[in-house]
Amino acid sequence: MSDKNEKRKNFISYPEEVLRPVKNYLSKRLFGLEKRKKELTKEDPYADKYRLDDNAAMDADAAETTGHMEVSALKKTIDRRTIQIRKALSRIKFGKYGVCERCGKMIDTDRLMIMPETTVCIDCERKREK
Ligand SMILES: [Zn+2]
Repeated sequence: MSDKNEKRKNFISYPEEVLRPVKNYLSKRLFGLEKRKKELTKEDPYADKYRLDDNAAMDADAAETTGHMEVSALKKTIDRRTIQIRKALSRIKFGKYGVCERCGKMIDTDRLMIMPETTVCIDCERKREK
């Protein structure tokens, strides 16, 4: 028995037929997030302030600021999700999907069903929140 085989015994990777729909789902979500971000960039009153200067429908400066802050917050959320999904996708690619990136244990399948983009197990998530 080589070391490689020993390691394989402890590591259960998901079969291709399980990973494929997950991969598709995550890819679709990633695509949606990127699209949403592009739309947000357009919606951001600061982004195209000059282009909209002539627009009579444009609200006062205060409204612009609120809009900009909301857009920024949304963008941050989208960025975080995008990074998370990319991470999960790369773990699928390297055959590490479903394995906690912190402790190396298998992530609960129920947890993966609800949050397919997760890369940490529930214990590590809890530790992180503290
Ligand atoms: Zn863990």
